[in-house]
Amino acid sequence: AKKAGKGCFVFWQRSFLKGSTPERVQMESELREAIIQDQLMLHFQPKVEADSGRVYGLEALVRWNHPRLGLVYPDRFIGIAEESNLILELDRWVVNAVADQLSKWRKRGLPLLEVSVNVSAAHITRNGLVDLFQGLLQKHPYLGDCLEIELTETAIMADPDQATVVLNTLRRCGVKSSVDDFGSGYTSLGYLKKLNANTLKIDRSFIDGITNDHYDRDVAKAIIALAASMSMDVVAEGVETQAQWELLQSFGCKYLQGYYFAKPQAASVIERTYLQPLMAEYI
Ligand code: C2E
Ligand code: MG
Ligand code: MG
Ligand code: MG
Repeated sequence: AKKAGKGCFVFWQRSFLKGSTPERVQMESELREAIIQDQLMLHFQPKVEADSGRVYGLEALVRWNHPRLGLVYPDRFIGIAEESNLILELDRWVVNAVADQLSKWRKRGLPLLEVSVNVSAAHITRNGLVDLFQGLLQKHPYLGDCLEIELTETAIMADPDQATVVLNTLRRCGVKSSVDDFGSGYTSLGYLKKLNANTLKIDRSFIDGITNDHYDRDVAKAIIALAASMSMDVVAEGVETQAQWELLQSFGCKYLQGYYFAKPQAASVIERTYLQPLMAEYI
């Protein structure tokens, strides 16, 4: 079923490209403007420890506050940005915006949680990522321990040697890495070991079926075991129920993320809900 699903997706994507070219062209030029005019914004989704439910980190997710369409989600514009160099500017905007937000929280004395940023494959093949982070860390040295990048399995496998070099260089600067949507692409296990990433994120599609589908459950278990054997952390993404939480915990999955715990939210909400209470704990 998974295989058929993948085929269907490719088919859908192609017809989508063909059917709406003018719309995509317009979207692209609007997106270019949006980056300049600061129409983009970040939401942050908490990541929690499976044993305690405690929030230990955040994932930054970009949104587009479109003047006509309202809040637009990344699935509608990341693909378009990836077809041009625009994705480089978009990723740059996101990384800088994360740094700005963390700096604001720090200035106000709030605790700094680890924040992960999604970056596109284009940034690996066309370089620039290392410079971007090094520049940032020079300006804000205290960010060294709280930044992480998320790269999808598919993006990594597009150029695994280059990805390995980039991730290793970033790690030396203190920037950690996660393999996002793991299980949805095709990884060579030899490369995975060499990659030396800190974390595997189990793709949401497996978590979906984990309580009633043997195949999904076995894949999730296998990924957790694989991560352990490579001394990597593992995060299950897309946890929506208590039953999924309990099952994943019993499999030894240490970290979880999903609507059951929290949806992605604006910085102000994150601050009120998670950071301020954490600060109270310290006092
Ligand atoms: P991702 O990095 O795998 O992010 C997880 C997506 O799943 C997010 O969607 C999140 O809102 C959603 N999600 C989280 N928990 C649940 C859950 O329990 N149930 C369900 N159904 N969904 C859940 P979002 O924000 O729409 O982002 C979609 C994708 O767009 C991301 O997948 C990532 O690949 C890409 N993306 C997002 N922000 C950025 C960015 O700043 N730069 C780049 N290059 N890509 C981004
Ligand atoms: Mg991600
Ligand atoms: Mg993911
Ligand atoms: Mg994804």
